[in-house]
Amino acid sequence: MQAGYQVVGTHEAADVCVINTCSVTHVGERKSRQAIRKMRRLNPDTIIAVTGCYAQLDPDTIAGIEGVRVIVGTQDRSRIVDFVEACHADGDVQNHVRDILPTTDFENLNLYGGAVEHTRAYVKIQEGCGNFCTFCIIPYTRGRLKSRRPEDIYAEAVRLVSQGYKEIILTGIHLGNYGQDLGGKNRLADVVNLLLTETDVRRVRLGSIESVELSEELITLLATEPRLCPHLHLPIQSGSERVLRMMRRHYRLSDYLVLITDLRQRIPDIALTTDLIVGFPGETEEMFRETLCTLQDVGFADVHIFPYSRRKGTPAADFPNQITEAEKKERVHRAEEVVRRAARAYAQRFIGKDVNVLVESRLQNGHFEGMSAHYHRVRLVNEVPQTGEIYPTRIIDADAQGLIGRAYVRQEALS
Ligand code: SF4
Repeated sequence: MQAGYQVVGTHEAADVCVINTCSVTHVGERKSRQAIRKMRRLNPDTIIAVTGCYAQLDPDTIAGIEGVRVIVGTQDRSRIVDFVEACHADGDVQNHVRDILPTTDFENLNLYGGAVEHTRAYVKIQEGCGNFCTFCIIPYTRGRLKSRRPEDIYAEAVRLVSQGYKEIILTGIHLGNYGQDLGGKNRLADVVNLLLTETDVRRVRLGSIESVELSEELITLLATEPRLCPHLHLPIQSGSERVLRMMRRHYRLSDYLVLITDLRQRIPDIALTTDLIVGFPGETEEMFRETLCTLQDVGFADVHIFPYSRRKGTPAADFPNQITEAEKKERVHRAEEVVRRAARAYAQRFIGKDVNVLVESRLQNGHFEGMSAHYHRVRLVNEVPQTGEIYPTRIIDADAQGLIGRAYVRQEALS
C-alpha cells in the first residue's frame, strides 16, 4: 500500500497475488499449492509471488507450479514490491530464498494498513525457535531466535490503537523467549507492561507460549491486570510423559499439570487452550489413553488437535513404529470427543455471569457477535450501537458455537 498498490479481496481481479504459505504439516503444504493454483485460475495474467515457510523450505517445488514468478522465503518479505516490479509476467521465476540460519535480525513488517474490521490485531514480536522438538519443521524454516525491538512494538501498537483496534495479540514462534537476543534486558512481561502503561489499548492477549516460559511476572500480571486477557494457550502436544520425551519437549507432564493447578488457583476461570499431536511415532494405545485422561483431567477450554504429520528432515520422520493414517484419524476423533465435553463444561460456567465482549461483526441473520476476554465467541441476542466496541454482556446460554449473551446497552444509544 505504501508503494501505491491497492489491496483487493481474494475473489477480485488482481495484477499481483502474494500467497503466504505454510509447511507446519503436509496438509498446510497441500493447501498452499492449491491456493497458488486457484489464484492462477482466477487471475491468469497475474504475477504470483509466493512467500512463507513452504517457500523457504521447498522453493523448487513452488517454482514448478505454473504462474509463479517470485519466491521469497521467511525473510526479505519487506522487499516483495521491489522483487515483483523487477520481474515480468512471462519472465523466468525469480527465487530470492536465502539460508535462514545465519539471520539474526527481526524483520520489522508493519501490517494492518487495510480496511479490515478494526477490532483485534496480531502484533508479532518474536521470530524463530531453537528448541528442535523432534516432530517440528519450524526451526528449519524460521531460523534462530530474533526479537522485535520494544520501540518498534510500541510504534506499531500506537498506530493500531489510533486506527481503532481495541485488542492486541502478541505473537511469536517462541514468544516466551522474547528478548533473549536483546541482551536479556527486555522480557515479555516488560512488553506487556509497556503496552498497558504507555498506550490506550483496551486489551492485550498473549499468543501461544510454552508452559515452562511463563514467568512469575507474567502470572502476576494475568492475576492483577484486568486489561490482560485471562487466557493462555499453552501447547501440551501430548498428555503422556513418555511421548513428551520422544518429542523432546522441554518440560515434564507433571510440571505442566502443577502449573495448571497454580494458574487456576490464582486466576479463577482462566481460559486454558492448547495444541495436541496424536499418532506420534511410537505412541501406543496405552500412551494415547494417558493423553485422553490428561485431557479429561485438565478440561481445556479448547484444543487444536493435529494428527502427526511426517516432516522430512526432522528426527521423528525416521522414527520406527509410525502410526497409520487410519489409526491417527481414529485417535483424533476420540480426542475430539473428550475435548468437546470439557469445552462445553467450561463454557457453561459463564452462564449468568457478566463478561466484556469486543463486538466484531454483524452476522447475516442480523445478530452481532464478538469475542470475550476469555476467548469465547459470543452471539448477542440484542442490538448494539456499533461494531468495534467493547460491551459488558450478561451470558444467558451456551451452545456448540459458543456463548449467547445480552449486551448492556442503553436504549437511547441505539437511536
Ligand atoms: S518449541 Fe514449538 S516451534 Fe519450537 S521446535 Fe518445538 S514445536 Fe516447533
